[in-house]
Amino acid sequence: MEPIGLYVHFPFCAGKCPYCDFYSAAADDAVMDAYADAVIDRIRARQQAGERYDTVYFGGGTPSLLGRRLVRIAEALRDEPIREFTVECNPSRVEDGLFAALRDAGVDRISMGLQSAVDAERRALGRTADAALVRHRVEQAQAAGFRKLSLDLMLGIPGQTADSLQTSLDFCRDAGVTHVSAYLLKIEEGTPFYKMRDRLALPDEDAVCELYLRACEALEDSGFKQYEISNFAKPGFESLHNLKYWDDRPYVGIGPAAHSFVGGKRFFYPRDTQAFLSGAFPVPDGDGGDFAEYAMLRLRLSEGLTEQGTRERFGFSVPQPVYRRAEHIPPRYLSADADGVRLTREGFLVSNAIIAELLADV
Ligand code: SF4
Repeated sequence: MEPIGLYVHFPFCAGKCPYCDFYSAAADDAVMDAYADAVIDRIRARQQAGERYDTVYFGGGTPSLLGRRLVRIAEALRDEPIREFTVECNPSRVEDGLFAALRDAGVDRISMGLQSAVDAERRALGRTADAALVRHRVEQAQAAGFRKLSLDLMLGIPGQTADSLQTSLDFCRDAGVTHVSAYLLKIEEGTPFYKMRDRLALPDEDAVCELYLRACEALEDSGFKQYEISNFAKPGFESLHNLKYWDDRPYVGIGPAAHSFVGGKRFFYPRDTQAFLSGAFPVPDGDGGDFAEYAMLRLRLSEGLTEQGTRERFGFSVPQPVYRRAEHIPPRYLSADADGVRLTREGFLVSNAIIAELLADV
């Protein structure tokens, strides 16, 4: 069996950030101990069925809250042919020596939430660490031997301006990290931000578009090449695990709220930690992997929907109706040629509408 991606969700956070709708809650040591055991059991059962992993991603929630328990879980993956092993770390929740212990356990990539290097913006997002602590964590990770280091940035934060964004972009440039993810703040229903949305000093839509384009340009000027709508990397430091999602490759997700795509089937664990600890099975979520799904995901990548990739995957060319639709979309949003079809940066800003239009006849 070909190796696939492994995602493990850690549904624990010390507090809840007011914009976040990820599945996570506070937990005590006993629950986190039991959770680590349950994850190891699930991994071992899948390994015994012949599954192998070449990329691993521990996300959340706050994986670093589990401390050395992460090392115990990583031990279960020792014999896997891993090419990339990422752990998300919250800068305010990293115990002494954790980076070195993770490195020794085979982890080679750390992803941390910066969101903003402006402390007032960080506080507005409910972040407790200040920018100086984030810088300190980056330096600690570098000292532990991590070269694959990613920072998350947020665009469209209450009160954010072009100048304050520049402070955050300069932070990323100067920190020596090799990857940046820059996400637009979405006000999700059911969050505290949703309830107070009329009182938040949110930049308007045009301002957010300008922030995005500025971030893309500044990151590129600092040597980070954009390879996906929200992701930028120094050459050779693209996230191999996340590329599997956008290339519609198989991955298994373990933990409540984790989704999987294995053997052409999609399935997920319900958002219920107790059920997961009690041995609940994942729930089927239909078939996946057809051309329309592949095209939709590929169009998130700067490389776009390529002729070569499509032929290798499906044995046919990008269907003519896609090119016919592309002729009617302004070039500021999209380009098409003999190699395939790809969105421009401005196209990325309206990607849902462009992709729906392009694939309307597929
Ligand atoms: S730390 Fe991350 S996962 Fe946890 S509440 Fe904040 S944004 Fe959500």
